[in-house]
Amino acid sequence: MPSGKLHVVPLGGLGEFGMNCMALRWGDDIIVVDAGLMFPESELLGVDIVVPDITYLLEHRNKVRAIVLTHGHEDHIGGLPWILSELNVPVYGTEFTLAYVENKLEEHELLDNAVLNEIRAGERFRIGPFTIHPIQVTHSLVDCVALAIHTPVGVIIHTGDFKVDPTPTDNRLFDLHTFAEYGKEGVLALFQDSTNVERSGYTPSERAVRRKFDEVFARAPRRLFISCFSSSIHRIKLAIELAFEHGRKVALIGRSMNESAEIAEDLGYIDFPEGLLINPGQIKDFDPKKVCVLISGTQGEPMSALSRAAVDNHKHAKIEAGDSVVLSSRIIPGNEKAIYRMIDHLFRREAHVIYEDGSSPPVHVSGHASQEELKLIINLVKPRYFIPIHGEYRQLRRHGELAASMHGAVGQVIQIESGDVLEFDELGVRKQGRVTVGRICIDSGSRTDVVEDLVIRDRRHLSEDGIVLPIIAINKLTGKVESPPEIVMRGFAAALPEDGFTDQAKAIVSRTLEESSQEEKADYGVIKEKIRADLKRYIVKSTSRRPLIMPVILEV
Ligand SMILES: [Zn+2]
Ligand SMILES: [Zn+2]
Repeated sequence: MPSGKLHVVPLGGLGEFGMNCMALRWGDDIIVVDAGLMFPESELLGVDIVVPDITYLLEHRNKVRAIVLTHGHEDHIGGLPWILSELNVPVYGTEFTLAYVENKLEEHELLDNAVLNEIRAGERFRIGPFTIHPIQVTHSLVDCVALAIHTPVGVIIHTGDFKVDPTPTDNRLFDLHTFAEYGKEGVLALFQDSTNVERSGYTPSERAVRRKFDEVFARAPRRLFISCFSSSIHRIKLAIELAFEHGRKVALIGRSMNESAEIAEDLGYIDFPEGLLINPGQIKDFDPKKVCVLISGTQGEPMSALSRAAVDNHKHAKIEAGDSVVLSSRIIPGNEKAIYRMIDHLFRREAHVIYEDGSSPPVHVSGHASQEELKLIINLVKPRYFIPIHGEYRQLRRHGELAASMHGAVGQVIQIESGDVLEFDELGVRKQGRVTVGRICIDSGSRTDVVEDLVIRDRRHLSEDGIVLPIIAINKLTGKVESPPEIVMRGFAAALPEDGFTDQAKAIVSRTLEESSQEEKADYGVIKEKIRADLKRYIVKSTSRRPLIMPVILEV
């Protein structure tokens, strides 16, 4: 065995949900597996996305050779624009993953300078001292791989996200054989997805939702709205097949839904039969019994198409009594309030709402492996060291306990968190110090903007750009605005370009309120976000400043 040390350094995703990113270093060569983002919690006002702190990579910028992607979910590729703008290195990913990456880089005007290399499951490639073998796995998205990484001290397997789906809708099967072969040859370390470690048994196949969808399609008396993540290609494919079988036209609403469907169609994952697709503007021209709308916004995001439709504020998506709305996705922790508020609005419209409520057959299945699948992979791979990844701290711990209970299959379980440096050499493995990690908050729409720790950002906001508090008094019972809005500003007034700014700002808030329905006004999450967005647009345009904007609703 060569003398030298392999460092494995998770920069995100261990001890937190999302933002998956892991560096592997041998001497003067570093490769990075995944570059994900995290969606901000609601208290992070004015922040659009959160990405990992990559100080470690920047400190070794001359050594970073590549970023290798396991699949196209945002928590694995969403940080790429930010990382590539700091560190332009080649990116490796499967065809489908790169299609998402291209769209994303194009949006940020980074595509021209990016080097994208397509990889395929089963085809090995080399980067410096690492030989990387992508292995086909199944997940809620398509074209996903695990990575077997051959290093001078042994083979490391990184599972990426996976479940063991024996019947994926694209018929591209989980390559259990290759996992087993590596197990026979000997694997130094297995890094495995912990997301669903708390669930016993097996995660159902993507095909399991077909029964529920069949039932819904057969019974829906009027328009049928189906909302799922735009990356749920298996789900979109199923909805399109069933719409065709049941003689319903399909309209796609929401930019991400359109982009995703287009990529999936281009790459042959989805087939739209001739004449099936209609424009959103045509929905009203068809018999409601003959329409199916695929719409984005399953998480109750205030500005999403479905949230707007739920409060009757979408140009084309009109939800009327007797329509059916299917939410085919999980309720991401932290989003419960927003989602249930949206569902309430849908019920008020007298729609029939079908969401994940534990009933069977399921309207949604998870994309992550449950306990029995996790054990299966551990048994096949029989790693010398087992390291749980992708999960909050309790999930990493429980995953470690699960593996430790499998005597004979795992040599040793090692618990690490983001920032820990794990060192492998001929003598074994140890934690060898820590590197800087953290969360960087970014305002989308501008990649130069931002990029600071939240606290620093808030302080900078307050010290340089100040704070703007629009105050609105709303009658809780009637949803009526009781008095003209007030605007309180601190640390910002000096920057004002002209008199009349405050009046103008008030007028904007008033207009936003006038243009909002009673239902929107009664939904503080929605109305605050609308006011914030409208005011921000005006303030940035007229002053080039970015104060912290915190709408305050007074209930009277
Ligand atoms: Zn994923
Ligand atoms: Zn993930």
